[in-house]
Amino acid sequence: MTSIKTVSTEDIPPLDSYTEELIAELQKPVAKVSISADEKGEILALYRRADNENLTGPIISLFGRLLDLQREGKGCSDDFGISGDELRQLAVKHQQIDEHMVSVGGRVARALPIAGEANSRVEEYLAEKDQAAPSGIEKWEQIQENISRIKKELKMSDDDWNSFQGQIRHAIDSVSTLSKLIDLPKDVLESIARVTKSYRMRLTPYYTSLIMPGVINDPVMLQSVPTGEMIENAGIEIPPVAADHSPARLIDQFYPRVLTIKATNMCAMYCTHCLRLAHIGRKDHVYSREAYNEALDYIRNNEQVRDVLVTGGDAFVLPNSMLRWLLEELDKIDHVKIKRLGTRIPVTAPMRVDTELLDILEESSDKKPIRVVTQINTAQEITPVSRDAFRQLSKRTFTVLNQAVLLKGINDSRVKMWKLCETIQEAYVRPYYIFNCSYRNPQFSHFRVPLAVGRDIVESMYGNISGDAIPRYIATAGGKIPLHRSNVVRREGDDYILRKPWSGEEAEYPDADPEVYAEDLFAFNK
Ligand SMILES: *Cc1c(COP(=O)(O)O)cnc(C)c1O
Ligand code: SF4
Repeated sequence: MTSIKTVSTEDIPPLDSYTEELIAELQKPVAKVSISADEKGEILALYRRADNENLTGPIISLFGRLLDLQREGKGCSDDFGISGDELRQLAVKHQQIDEHMVSVGGRVARALPIAGEANSRVEEYLAEKDQAAPSGIEKWEQIQENISRIKKELKMSDDDWNSFQGQIRHAIDSVSTLSKLIDLPKDVLESIARVTKSYRMRLTPYYTSLIMPGVINDPVMLQSVPTGEMIENAGIEIPPVAADHSPARLIDQFYPRVLTIKATNMCAMYCTHCLRLAHIGRKDHVYSREAYNEALDYIRNNEQVRDVLVTGGDAFVLPNSMLRWLLEELDKIDHVKIKRLGTRIPVTAPMRVDTELLDILEESSDKKPIRVVTQINTAQEITPVSRDAFRQLSKRTFTVLNQAVLLKGINDSRVKMWKLCETIQEAYVRPYYIFNCSYRNPQFSHFRVPLAVGRDIVESMYGNISGDAIPRYIATAGGKIPLHRSNVVRREGDDYILRKPWSGEEAEYPDADPEVYAEDLFAFNK
């Protein structure tokens, strides 16, 4: 077989072993050459591009394709009229073009298969995510249909729909109204009627529009419409730990530097898995300024407190005037450096996030940082509307963090949780915590997920989604206790053996030398 081009062997500098091995494989004769005219033409075209263009891509394509054809037993490089020296010359050219002098052998035989293997780890996710866990952005068309149906049924004007007051005024708190908006079987409606005698139900019309018609166990409906299990599971409640941790009116304190003010017991929507079930109670209460002042006095008098979380209920239920006053009072306290507002309203009634509220938040955040802490449990809760609310909040405050609750059937799979974390990150929200569903309220034991499942879900994110989209997995048991799996497997001599979360592969990790660590720091004090 004649060569395409003659090159003199002396011109070629030595190549690395990956490249020599690759070229040897490409040259290995096959049992029976069976090259089609198309394949021959394809290789010739690739060779010409590789030879003529000053790019790495065509060289990689040629080597990659030749490797495929050799491995398929169709023919080796010589069968295409390409000699070993011609391959070597292209390999040298590749190395000279590449900024990091990566060899063609390294790239084709090592890097590309490694990247391919990494890609295979997310294949299932990419194939399933939009079906198994659609976002409200992907479902927007259906949601818009739901909105017009609900608006008509509840006789809501556009102004009603687009205002927080309108959403609250038309909130759905009876089975009869619910049954007009969502198609549910009779026995389910009866069961809801039974449950709502003991537990509060309230859905904003907006949140109701996120429920997908005809979907059994829709994850938004499961979070907002109480089911029979809540009564069946009701047993002896373990009193909230907060009872032992409330040093002052409205205050919960587990930690020296951080505490919460439960500024209201109201929420725009009541979650079926609410940890604060006892606090929420059955009725809305409006708190007095005296009550807030007692809480503020406790903070004023405790100088170690630097981070104050205003929660509830839902902090955004507070009227703007009250929120402004509370933030101003907190800003006046020298030792308070950070304020957090706990709210689900950006996903349950995003219309609340209007210019007036944003101005109040920005004004206070300019004095000392404000973080908004929210709760989003499914990608379905992110719509163009809630995404815009989060975009504005994140622009006007320091950051928006998410505390998801791990819930059976709602977000207890890798695909659903990865999708949630990626979707909220794209909606300007940082995944912060994933809480294991509390054991204290037997009413929602049917939502609980075993720790091993939760650990697997969180662990599976490492190396597969952006690091800053990975939340911390937490148990609440008299404070927040991390549930992460340890990737420090054992110690071997001076090394630790670590585990890569994405592959289970072990890696040796030399520890810092304890003798060097014990020495005085650097040369200045020697
Ligand atoms: C969650 C919580 C905090 C805040 O904990 P971080 O880990 O700082 O987010 C503080 N106090 C109470 C009572 C809490 O429940
Ligand atoms: S928003 Fe929070 S406090 Fe309100 S019902 Fe849901 S979980 Fe409970």
